[in-house]
Amino acid sequence: AHYDRITAEDRQINSYLSLSRERALTQASKIDAMAQRGEVLPPLAGVPVGIKDVLVMRGAPATASSLIVKGYRPPYDATAVERLESAGAVLLGKLNCDEFAMGSSNENSAYGPVRNPRALDRVPGGSSGGSAAAVAAGFAVATLGTDTGGSIRQPAAFCGVVGVLPTYGRVSRYGLIAFASSLDRIGPFTKNVKDAATMLEVLAGKDALDATSSDRPVEGYRNALDGPVEGLKVGVPEEYFGDGLDTEIRAAIERALDGLKAAGCVVKPVSLPHTKYAVPTYYVIATAEASSNLSRFDGVRFGLRDAEAKTLSEMYSRTRDAGFGAEVKRRILLGTYALSAGYYDAYYKKAQQVRTLLTRDFLAAFTDVDVLVAPVTPTPAFKLGEKTDDPVKMYLEDIYSVAASLSGICGMSVPLGETRDGLPIGLQILGRHFGEATMLRVARTVE
Ligand code: GLN
Repeated sequence: AHYDRITAEDRQINSYLSLSRERALTQASKIDAMAQRGEVLPPLAGVPVGIKDVLVMRGAPATASSLIVKGYRPPYDATAVERLESAGAVLLGKLNCDEFAMGSSNENSAYGPVRNPRALDRVPGGSSGGSAAAVAAGFAVATLGTDTGGSIRQPAAFCGVVGVLPTYGRVSRYGLIAFASSLDRIGPFTKNVKDAATMLEVLAGKDALDATSSDRPVEGYRNALDGPVEGLKVGVPEEYFGDGLDTEIRAAIERALDGLKAAGCVVKPVSLPHTKYAVPTYYVIATAEASSNLSRFDGVRFGLRDAEAKTLSEMYSRTRDAGFGAEVKRRILLGTYALSAGYYDAYYKKAQQVRTLLTRDFLAAFTDVDVLVAPVTPTPAFKLGEKTDDPVKMYLEDIYSVAASLSGICGMSVPLGETRDGLPIGLQILGRHFGEATMLRVARTVE
């Protein structure tokens, strides 16, 4: 049924880049046979899921929405993909995104933009635009996305679905095509908070193949949803409610806060004083790490290779010139500059120091409150083409999301209804490091 819907309706949304029919149908029959035999079924038995195309799936084309990876078929599964399938999920295919997950609108894909299923003239957000749109359009029950600086939370908000950014280290990154390794995280998109808890329970946990994955025991997120919220302290960071925040988003958050108060939460203002430095800090660190990670695409090991070049270095440069899109090139240039000998101390090192200050802001706030609530984005989904000619305007889209990314804490976006024009509004909830259970419980209360 999902494949039928994708075939009939995805032409206008453009969320899937490839379908893995054979693997999906084999898994579906296997689960069906288990059900026929009356066996105990795993938690995601038969659940159709889609995978952002920066995660590898054995034998399936992996593109990262870039021409430079074209033709690469990885011989292995990402750990997150493998865990979903072992839990019974049916893997439908790979989902469109911004090239190497760099972007906030899904307009940086070599395979064309994704359209927002809730308003076709609008972007679905990015970089996991295909993952959010697929859930919103009913092309999957759940999907995987990645969030380096907002790429799960922002598209979730724009498409009216739930998106979870787990704590750094909670979900293995093995098999993720790296953008910025100290920031990249994998998490689920779902239609509701309960499904998100179920997905996260399957995805989380130590993996010997990712040294940065944590061996902290995984909590029962689903059971935790039913716990009480009375007495929980909810912080409202004043820096996230300044000028430039859309009035309808502000009003929706105020209503959600009233709901939390009525449920017995204590709502109080807090301050995260270094917030204004988050966007510049993020764009130094993320581009620096990207310039290093993307050096592996040299025409030798993956995908595209220029055929005309006469020398090795000509082959490198011609392949990279033809294979990378404009935004990826911009970031490689910025990142290489920030890491170069004469500028390292002024940019990269300074950004790392500010990153520590941003983290301390959150740690201080969390000595006083259990979760923070904030907007995900300053405005609802914008129109296609609206910000493509101004990179800085596009970067400012990340103003409320990147501080949490730099600090490693968990976060999520939960739908809060819609604007008068019918555009979805998201509420951002941020939790302590490994505080997913409490965060999800608060989300359940507002959804
Ligand atoms: N919009 C941010 C960027 O362009 C975040 C991307 C992401 O989280 N992958 O870098």
